[in-house]
Amino acid sequence: MVKPNHSPKLIAGRLALDFANLIPEAHDLSWQEFVTFLVNSRVVSEDHGQRLEALERSEPIAVDSVLLKILRLRECLRAVFAAVEERRDYPKAWVAPINEILRVTEGHDELVPQGGRWRMEFIARESGLEWLLAAIARSAAELIVEGQTAAVKRCANPACRLFFYDDSRTRQRRWCSMAVCGNRHKVAAFLRRKIGRRHLH
Ligand SMILES: [Zn+2]
Repeated sequence: MVKPNHSPKLIAGRLALDFANLIPEAHDLSWQEFVTFLVNSRVVSEDHGQRLEALERSEPIAVDSVLLKILRLRECLRAVFAAVEERRDYPKAWVAPINEILRVTEGHDELVPQGGRWRMEFIARESGLEWLLAAIARSAAELIVEGQTAAVKRCANPACRLFFYDDSRTRQRRWCSMAVCGNRHKVAAFLRRKIGRRHLH
């Protein structure tokens, strides 16, 4: 069953960054986790997600082969975005997995209203299962084209380090989420001050 919102929170503000944040370590991404991500980030509908999930049993070979591409794309995005965030150069070959997806997925752009503004959304034409990665590859390519000016950041909590796009007006956002890492930091700073004061007396 694909249920929205049972996977990690989508906090990055860009599809490709949310994808790069998926299961950062410890284990490989499963088909179910990937489909849940697509549903949560509204790349596919819930109904569609359920049909996709069933493919693991009906078309295991196709699913296995696209899973390999999914993992490759995720590793590629994590490496490229880490370099962008640190304003480092990276080898041109690193973007190859993105180009591969862009090459095999046809589609068109569509205007979609979002928060009182418009944004362009890529609508892929379905062929094979690679099209599921089309919107992610497109979003990644847009960030890469932005280059060093892209406000790609990582959460300042060293134990978290999730990627996000800083859309704030002042570009001062430091945390993946104020409610999680931001507050944890505030509490820690408060305790440090309290303990510091105690030592003075
Ligand atoms: Zn965080």
